[in-house]
Amino acid sequence: MAKKDNNQRHCSFCGRGEDEVELLLTGIDGHICNDCAQRAKEMVDIAIPTHTSSEHIAEEFGALPTPKEIKTYLDEYIIGQDAAKKYLSVAVYNHYKRILNKNKASDDDQVEIEKSNIVMVGSTGTGKTLLARTIAKLLKVPFTIVDATVFTEAGYVGEDVESILSRLLQVADFDVEKAERGIVFIDEIDKIARKSDNPSITRDVSGEGVQQGMLKLLEGSIVNVPPKGGRKHPDQDYIHVDTHNILFICGGAFDGIEKKIAQRLNTHTVGYDSVQNLKKIDASDLMQYVEPQDLKSFGLIPEIIGRLPVLTYLKPLDRTALRNILTEPKNSIIKQYIKLFALDDIALTFEDAVLDYIVDQAVEYKLGARGLRSIVETIMMDAMYEAPSSDTKSLTITLDYARQQFEKTNIPAM
Ligand code: ADP
Repeated sequence: MAKKDNNQRHCSFCGRGEDEVELLLTGIDGHICNDCAQRAKEMVDIAIPTHTSSEHIAEEFGALPTPKEIKTYLDEYIIGQDAAKKYLSVAVYNHYKRILNKNKASDDDQVEIEKSNIVMVGSTGTGKTLLARTIAKLLKVPFTIVDATVFTEAGYVGEDVESILSRLLQVADFDVEKAERGIVFIDEIDKIARKSDNPSITRDVSGEGVQQGMLKLLEGSIVNVPPKGGRKHPDQDYIHVDTHNILFICGGAFDGIEKKIAQRLNTHTVGYDSVQNLKKIDASDLMQYVEPQDLKSFGLIPEIIGRLPVLTYLKPLDRTALRNILTEPKNSIIKQYIKLFALDDIALTFEDAVLDYIVDQAVEYKLGARGLRSIVETIMMDAMYEAPSSDTKSLTITLDYARQQFEKTNIPAM
């Protein structure tokens, strides 16, 4: 204990004088310095946990948004895709309600709500990743995107499926409890479909084996996770992660699944009320009729399909949708460019014809929404290079200018 100088106030815990500490708080009969107060708080936190888990989650989410609120939020960022938005809103709401309820549930409560992982079917660039990402942002839970194609069966070159959880842990700052309530988006799930209809012909390293590995994560189990990702190693210390409450959202383009859907619809429509059914089917968008059995025909194993009970689809984006994507969402591409220039005090505007031109190019190059950004980037490159060093205060992108810039580069960099 430091030697006391009677003329000054001292911390009653460590004895240091007020000139030796940053802050000294005074009570009725004594004082406490900032360091001791901090240490006291840490000890109290350990000795008396103030939050139960469910309070913690509720606090994190604020009040859990209702499916309608979730959908309204998604509407701000994602154009169209109403069916997918609705399915997702309900599934996510139920998922987190289930977690909250689980923490509150009494022991004699026999009904356990099972979790509902989600699979979204839709061409590339239709907004699958954006949907998952936007939901994670709304709920403020750890979120990670993994590509199913990097995984291979244990023992082969590639990553173990467990490394999915390593990434989730990383974004959760290694807070295991937080990671255990996160959302994982598994992209390109269709790429791990079984290639051949006969599972026994050859070992299917990248297909069925990976699906089996993934099953363990999807169904909810305690998984040993190598903290740094990559391959498991016998000498490594593993982190145990419980995947029961992790929401898995899978996405895939499932190229060619329309054929399977058509086959199924055809066989079903033979027979009673077939004529009526045939009339109702919109052959230009068969994806909307996707059912779990089509995923099976495509090559996903039934166990995986069983663990992805919410199946929804995304529509291909038409011209109107692409045009809206440019300008409507809260952080639309055009709004982003306007803001970028505004930061340099330049008022940027686009002629309407330019926006139509951008959509034309995206359609022509079959780039979908993914291409919009790179097309705008190509058109704006010279302006972005020049403008900050000129004294321009306003800039209007005309159709002639856009066309000239785009044709100069011709193919947008993708
Ligand atoms: P997917 O995962 O289906 O391949 P993404 O979600 O990655 O597609 O979409 C690519 C980009 O295209 C997104 O970053 C977004 O800018 C845009 N985009 C795609 N679909 C939409 C949509 N429906 N609404 C708004 N933007 C979209």
